[in-house]
Amino acid sequence: MNLWVFDLDGTLITSGIDYARAVFHWELMFINRMEHRAPHYDKFVPDFLGLLRESEKELFKTMRAHRKRFPTSMVEAYRGLCRNFGMSVDPEIERETWEIGVSALSEETYRNRGMLPGAEEALAFLQERGDLIYCVTAGDPVVQWMKWRGYNLRRFFPSQREYRVIWWDKLRTLKKLRKLHRDKAAIMVGDSIGSDLIPAAKAGYLPIYIPHPSVWDHGELEKEPPPGSRRFLQITQIVSEYQSLIRPTG
Ligand SMILES: [Mg+2]
Repeated sequence: MNLWVFDLDGTLITSGIDYARAVFHWELMFINRMEHRAPHYDKFVPDFLGLLRESEKELFKTMRAHRKRFPTSMVEAYRGLCRNFGMSVDPEIERETWEIGVSALSEETYRNRGMLPGAEEALAFLQERGDLIYCVTAGDPVVQWMKWRGYNLRRFFPSQREYRVIWWDKLRTLKKLRKLHRDKAAIMVGDSIGSDLIPAAKAGYLPIYIPHPSVWDHGELEKEPPPGSRRFLQITQIVSEYQSLIRPTG
């Protein structure tokens, strides 16, 4: 029996495209509302994206993964756009902007979309082996539990014992789980060097790095996976390389 810890976003599920969809919805709403007064797309689209990016970066420092961060950024970007074009802020557009921002986080969307290709297969394989599987995910608990319900993650992580939501640093939780299962081989799988692999290595896990093809993050500070890490292109390599991964670690 071995100990496996998985990251959620970008490792087992995709979350970035919901923000992309919200941005496109916003642009459509904006031109519909502005109609004759709408600035040329060549000007307002890049402006809006630039302002949104700036605001996301700034708010991330204080709000981290809070569910209100993205809608707040969208409203700020809209206000910035009004400043750039000398337009007054329209309260109706502002209200709709907030709602579109909120819509990026939707349990219904999660329900209608499967997990990343191979994720269910890999988790089911480990389950059949009788290995212990945990998910340690950083984010807003309200949103992460929406994902748990939407993607039906209880199949693999039945309760808050196996599904751990934390606000930021994973190290403490990883250490705790490692201590609970001292005698087992421990492996941690994630798509972020800084928030998954480095704490995993520190806590005595074999880190497995599976970079996501579309990354929505705020600039990885760490560029190199810790020494001894494995790097996979697909999560199903857990199945094909299983024997080489379950050697005892730290
Ligand atoms: Mg991740």
